[in-house]
Amino acid sequence: TVRTRFAPSPTGFMHVGNLRTALYEYLIAKSMGGQFVLRIEDTDQERLVEGAVDVIYRTLDQVGLKHDEGPDVGGDYGPYIQSKRKDLYKPYAEQLVREGKAYYCFCTKERLDALHEAQEGGGYDRHCRDLPQEEVDRLLAAGTPYVIRQKMPVEGSTTFHDVVYGDITIENRELEDQILLKSDGYPTYNFANVIDDHLMHITHVVRGCEYLTSTPKYNLLYEAFGWEVPTYVHLPLIMGKNEDGSVSKLSKRHGATGFADLMAEGYLPQAITNYIALLGWCPKENRELFTLPELVENFSIEGISKSPAVFDYDKLTWFNAEYIRAMTQDEFITAAMPYFQQVFGDKQMNWEVLASILQPRVTKLTEIPGMIGFFQELPEYSVDLFVNKKSKTNLENSVTMLEAAIPELKSVSNWQLDTIHDQLIALAQRLEVKNGTLLWPVRIAAAGMQVTPGGAMEILAILGKEESLRRLEIGLE
Ligand code: GLU
Repeated sequence: TVRTRFAPSPTGFMHVGNLRTALYEYLIAKSMGGQFVLRIEDTDQERLVEGAVDVIYRTLDQVGLKHDEGPDVGGDYGPYIQSKRKDLYKPYAEQLVREGKAYYCFCTKERLDALHEAQEGGGYDRHCRDLPQEEVDRLLAAGTPYVIRQKMPVEGSTTFHDVVYGDITIENRELEDQILLKSDGYPTYNFANVIDDHLMHITHVVRGCEYLTSTPKYNLLYEAFGWEVPTYVHLPLIMGKNEDGSVSKLSKRHGATGFADLMAEGYLPQAITNYIALLGWCPKENRELFTLPELVENFSIEGISKSPAVFDYDKLTWFNAEYIRAMTQDEFITAAMPYFQQVFGDKQMNWEVLASILQPRVTKLTEIPGMIGFFQELPEYSVDLFVNKKSKTNLENSVTMLEAAIPELKSVSNWQLDTIHDQLIALAQRLEVKNGTLLWPVRIAAAGMQVTPGGAMEILAILGKEESLRRLEIGLE
């Protein structure tokens, strides 16, 4: 069976690139009936961030990427946190030493630093690669600190295949004898990654293309152990649009790059997921909107492209608006509630009517407070707003309309959208005026603004009877 893994290093931040990697890993596994594993790569103890693993769990949960195995759900190949696996790597490094494929290196930091300075970036000079065995034994017996390095082939070339990028060949002499085990006994990042992918039976290694250059090293490790090489799937870069029209690697100056930051900007998890699914993957049919189950159904590795994908915030906003409209009213009210509360506090409002006017208009939830502030506080407005050609209103007839509307509305005992509606429509008929001639001044007086979400009746329904009448009276002044 197909097994993929998401192997984040807990940094406390879920970059959209990482989230896309997780999504594609999930989709590859699930589209082929396989398993999706979560492994936490925290061997770099110096860079540990408090609470960072929780950010990973929370994000996966919010976007619905349910892992089959992982630190929190268990599984047959745990532990799934590398720091809890620390003792299992060393024997593998020692196995390679015994087989002549790796060696102890006793070079001191001073020597390596000097080497580094003397030759610009040439890498380790393989000084310890051919130390006589007695010398090695003597140094080990004396407790000399060491690292274990892999013996890279010095001639020939290494070729590996990547499903997206094709065959890639590099000259072996360009490869340094990489460290497998550090002097503190911890594995290097690359070493632990390969051992774990093997032990966890990972069939498809999916990751960003920034790892493409390290892949020959991974590949030579699989070869050294005689293990089956996984299928490599490297994903294209994600770029951002610059002001001058050019593109460069997506970074903060383009906009929010973290999942939590995008959420805070009012984007919905489903919209983010749908949008990033298309950053590097092209569906067969010309279609853009996919729920997660639909992505699983339609995803295929062949559709992954190697050309860089451009993260377009306007496009994401379009997706977000589509998802907002597709919500049920209850879902919308739940999602919007924190933003409603920013304006109304604990006050109970007519949430249904409020939702009915906002849901068709909102593109990001964060727009909501700005759109509804007038309900909480009547803005100061100029009487000129009452004048509108299309509704045939002017300063005089606006007063007449408001004067007529106030007693009618006072008589409404059950203050609901439909009762308000019926009362005002009947009044317009009786007055023999266009509906607009009556509703325009009512809406201006109720909202104090020319452009409002929703019409006069919705606004009155949301304001409530008392506040509505108070505002219409103010309109008369
Ligand atoms: N721990 C790596 C990261 O956070 C993952 C590398 C890989 O997927 O092999 O980017």
